[in-house]
Amino acid sequence: MLSSHPFKPTSTCQTTGVQCIEARSALHYHDKEQPTHWDLNVYRGCAHGCTYCFARYSHDYIGGGDFFNHIVAKTNLAPTLDKEFRKSTWLHEPVNLGGVSDSYQPVEATLKLLPPILEVFIKHSNPLLISTKSDLILRDKVLFARLSERTEVRVAASITTANDSLAQLLEPGATAPSHRFTMLRAMKEIGVKTYILLMPILPYLTDEPDQLEQIYQQAARAGVEGIIAWPLNLRGKVKPAFIQFLREKFPALVAPYTGLFHGSSASPSYTSQMLEITAELGQKYGISKIPRFAPETKTAGRQTSLF
Ligand code: SF4
Repeated sequence: MLSSHPFKPTSTCQTTGVQCIEARSALHYHDKEQPTHWDLNVYRGCAHGCTYCFARYSHDYIGGGDFFNHIVAKTNLAPTLDKEFRKSTWLHEPVNLGGVSDSYQPVEATLKLLPPILEVFIKHSNPLLISTKSDLILRDKVLFARLSERTEVRVAASITTANDSLAQLLEPGATAPSHRFTMLRAMKEIGVKTYILLMPILPYLTDEPDQLEQIYQQAARAGVEGIIAWPLNLRGKVKPAFIQFLREKFPALVAPYTGLFHGSSASPSYTSQMLEITAELGQKYGISKIPRFAPETKTAGRQTSLF
């Protein structure tokens, strides 16, 4: 049921079964400790189905629908964003294209909502960052190349493991990690800055030093500029859902997880150990953490804007 959510329902997209709506606004401000305070979410819900996803509980406000199967698409974001970028109060700050769902999840192949939105970013030379677990983004690489000629563009792949089989269990709807590395190489070749979100690191599943090293090795080969790594957080409803996943697929790990996670986070010593290992790997492969956007990014965007 969509009657109580803050958007205007339009129709069910005929060919996809996805709920189409018109959003009143495109840009969403938040004060979280992230590279930018502005998000633009084209979709609500995400068919990538990651077992550790905590965004899935953001769906409660539109009626508690199943985040992985009840996808909502905002079909009017390109003109809405254009209006918001034209405002004199807009400072051309970087915008995160995503945040609560993956913009290049499978239904985007049919709906093609991203290209006109990227055209708006190009028109206004507005900095952009995006993270995805899909190589569908390569469909739009010409648009990313055009934008990166005008302003800073960052494309990050979220990669938790370099093992395609393990990823199939953990992230059943997403592109295999080997293809995500291919995507990063292709983006790098067209001049886009690329990064990896190595998060979450999953205790006893993806946290062996040689498993983490495989990601750094492949990242170095792909010319990735930065990696940020952080262990699993089992906040709120994620904890019972993830423990249930372990019961079904890795029953021997239920007891170790219960021992490691007294609350939502792993023990501080575990977190320190993971950060130490990834810092050493970063040094070994010459890959730094992901830097903040330069303060001049927004003024550069303003100077080159067409409006
Ligand atoms: S890609 Fe992100 S939003 Fe989508 S299911 Fe996975 S963790 Fe959740």
